Amino acid sequence: MSELETLCDIVIFGGHGDLAFRKLMPALCYLYSDGYLNVNSRVITVSREKMSQEDHLALVKSKLLEFLPEGHFNEEKFERFQKQLHLSVVDFTDLTSYQNLQTLLSEYPDRERVNYLSTSPNFFGSICRALDHWELNTPESRVVLEKPIGRDLKSSRVINEEVLKYFQESQIYRIDHYLGKDTVQNIMALRFSNRFFMPLWDSNNIDHIQITVAESVGVEGRWGYYDEYGALRDMIQNHLMQLLCLVAMEPPCSLEADSVRDEKVKVLRSLRSMSYADIEQKTVRAQYDKGSSDGEPAPGYLEGEGVENSTTETYAAIRVDIDNWRWNGVPFYIRSGKRMRQRNSEIIIHYKTVPHSIFANKGACISENKLIISLQPKESIRLQLMNKIPGLSKEMRLQPVELELNSPLNSERKPEAYERLLLDVIRSNPTLFMRLDEVEAAWQWADKIIEGWSQNITPMKSYNAGSDGPSAAIQLIARDGRSWHDE
Ligand code: NAP
Repeated sequence: MSELETLCDIVIFGGHGDLAFRKLMPALCYLYSDGYLNVNSRVITVSREKMSQEDHLALVKSKLLEFLPEGHFNEEKFERFQKQLHLSVVDFTDLTSYQNLQTLLSEYPDRERVNYLSTSPNFFGSICRALDHWELNTPESRVVLEKPIGRDLKSSRVINEEVLKYFQESQIYRIDHYLGKDTVQNIMALRFSNRFFMPLWDSNNIDHIQITVAESVGVEGRWGYYDEYGALRDMIQNHLMQLLCLVAMEPPCSLEADSVRDEKVKVLRSLRSMSYADIEQKTVRAQYDKGSSDGEPAPGYLEGEGVENSTTETYAAIRVDIDNWRWNGVPFYIRSGKRMRQRNSEIIIHYKTVPHSIFANKGACISENKLIISLQPKESIRLQLMNKIPGLSKEMRLQPVELELNSPLNSERKPEAYERLLLDVIRSNPTLFMRLDEVEAAWQWADKIIEGWSQNITPMKSYNAGSDGPSAAIQLIARDGRSWHDE
């Protein structure tokens, strides 16, 4: 087991919450098992619920059994891992209650610390203030912020400014778990380590790009949270914009965090701002009505919530234009929705057709080449090419075939996004985390649409649960003579 990884105390605020149990603890457990967690590092759960250390460990174990895939919990390894697990009972709103955390952390005053704020952003300010009060925000400390960071530029500034009173920007890690996915990082490897794609990655060759993040589930007991945000704020402003940045950015001068983030922020600043006329034409918002999911009846968004109406969209589709040399005239069509026919996240690079077809009059239809980067449910990268159908037919017949870029020999478990991201925080590598200027530039673009929608410039549409979304989204792309890639 590793003594080479950075020695640190990892403090999880909200450590008995859903995210902590569902994602963070399993990720730490994998890191421990795979030798990426220093054996002397401590994982300190901060919770307001008083319980003994014994009960805490029993709870962690039961949640690992619940959330790790079947067969991945290893009793013997957990016996050893649990020696690194601690509990500190704190009420975020009571400054004095932090004293026991201070006592625990002071056992190793010079140790590096990761403060993971797995809480509502309403607590970010008070937790950081308390860390400052108890002199726990040492220069070797990092603070990880979960989304959502605000509902718009103004509220995100309030949250960020609160945290920035006590931590430097270089200590702040704003998480976007999409960036932790192996295939998302592979976009950079694909683009910047292969000469092959370099001359083909621009408006001379690419017709348009689609980014889809579709979920088959509804709001899953988080209606109160979701209704305050909706698809634009919850998914598009952060996850889809980050994916768009990785696809659209110029080659960074190195893999240093700020080189990469400088290029991403340039993309965000080049997003064409939308007038009300653009918002009307280029955006669609919709809410799901009742329908079916996995063959079972599924309720509509409002059903059973005791409210008669809500203006929160559960689906959004937007045509995004980037005003720079590389992407002039190449639209990015992005969409995200809940209760869709299938869970599916992918980026599709649609190439232009060949300039002249010698096959055109010989019964052969040439489809455009596509590069399909799938993130969910399976991670894969496929290149769709035209190929001859084998045989002796008089006319040459063609068919689209797929070249799978991921090595089929690599059957090793792909790390979960939170493993990558937690390890990067432990190693003080902020490359995959959002810098303040990125967050603000993304909000600046999204705020225009939020404002237009608040004026009802784009009327709310509906779609059946379990469908591919509203017909208005099909029209949005069809108006440009294109169609969504739905398999
Ligand atoms: P959660 O289940 O409500 O967890 C929050 C935790 O904070 C709870 O354990 C809660 O304790 C604790 N807490 C609340 N008030 C407290 C106080 N005054 N003192 C001490 N502890 C207090 O929420 P979550 O789903 O884990 O989400 C945490 C953050 O991650 C949110 O910002 C969310 O938007 C974000 N996030 C979550 C997910 C996800 O899958 N869950 C995904 C992406 C982002 P009690 O249990 O005692 O109330």
